[in-house]
Amino acid sequence: MARDHGEEIGRTNGCRRCGRSRGMIRRHGLRLCRQCFRDVAPSIGFKKNS
Ligand SMILES: [Zn+2]
Repeated sequence: MARDHGEEIGRTNGCRRCGRSRGMIRRHGLRLCRQCFRDVAPSIGFKKNS
């Protein structure tokens, strides 16, 4: 455990894609903001009914 806090792990807040914590969606363990969610949703096969 000589390493510092992992940047990928341990960040409770913030989009794992852009790092912003605005409009975070923590559903399905995505941990993405709404903007990134919309962008990656099709890629991960997640469709949102609107
Ligand atoms: Zn984002």
